[in-house]
Amino acid sequence: MNIIVCIKQVPGTSKVEVDPVTGVLKRDGIDSKMNPYDLYALETALKLREEKGGKVSVISMGPPQAMAVIKEAYMMGADEGTLISDRKFGGADVLATSYTLSQGVRKMGDADIIICGKQTTDGDTAQVGPEMAEYLGIPHVANVRKIVELREASIVVEMDMPDTVEVAEVQYPCLITVEKNIFEPRLPSYRKKLSTKDREINILSLKDLEDQDEKKYGLNGSPTQVERIFPPEVNNDRETWTGSSEEITHKLIGKLKALKFI
Ligand SMILES: Cc1cc2nc3c(=O)[nH]c(=O)nc-3n(C[C@H](O)[C@H](O)[C@H](O)COP(=O)(O)OP(=O)(O)OC[C@H]3O[C@@H](n4cnc5c(N)ncnc54)[C@H](O)[C@@H]3O)c2cc1C
Repeated sequence: MNIIVCIKQVPGTSKVEVDPVTGVLKRDGIDSKMNPYDLYALETALKLREEKGGKVSVISMGPPQAMAVIKEAYMMGADEGTLISDRKFGGADVLATSYTLSQGVRKMGDADIIICGKQTTDGDTAQVGPEMAEYLGIPHVANVRKIVELREASIVVEMDMPDTVEVAEVQYPCLITVEKNIFEPRLPSYRKKLSTKDREINILSLKDLEDQDEKKYGLNGSPTQVERIFPPEVNNDRETWTGSSEEITHKLIGKLKALKFI
């Protein structure tokens, strides 16, 4: 079974600045880590490989520093890693990111299952997985919380819906996005760190992809326009009220109504 896991490098801190002119995150020189949700995706892939055999490959799109998350994936047990990296991919919004990743996956060859995290902790849209599946023309299931069964030609999963749990059977090749806690991610192993320290990472740039039309990548391929980026307003105003419980309750209800909370 060939499994591809999408892993993204995200800032390891919430104190990330935004370029006021371009509206793009300033990622240079800040602490980074693997998107926490992608640890669950990788663990799911490793568990499936334990059950059925095969190969787990990881793919990441980002600047060269994103090689760090691929090395971390090697330390957890991934067999192969690909980084899609090119200045021409800079400024990509969700659509362009999904397209670029789908092109990278095509280049990596046939996969039975592509696994993504449910969402990232920076962009947080949860759209990349489903959009990639659309570009690849394969079925997808989002918010998978349990793998029920691996069949010869399909996988049966439980999907976490807002009010219910739905069971779905999807034919390979397919893409799933997994919930946190589907499995407990293993820790990177020191032994694997040593044994994989010279393992190569495949680097793909635009010229390696099937579709080399620059209009589909990076800022050129991004229809999203960031009009304004601003930090959430912080309101530290406080009031102290005195009086009987009844008076304070009335005052509180009046205040909540005035603020349209009730
Ligand atoms: C106008 C605009 C400009 C932007 N410019 C930049 C920029 O210059 N630089 C920049 O870094 N970001 C930029 N972004 C953010 C970038 O578009 C998102 O980081 C990207 O689309 C992924 O979306 P997400 O983080 O919401 O992923 P989600 O949809 O929340 O991620 C779901 C899953 O998809 C997979 N995934 C997502 N992204 C990647 C990835 N890169 N590699 C591998 N797997 C992935 C992971 O498995 C992840 O768990 C920009 C966004 C906008 C709207």
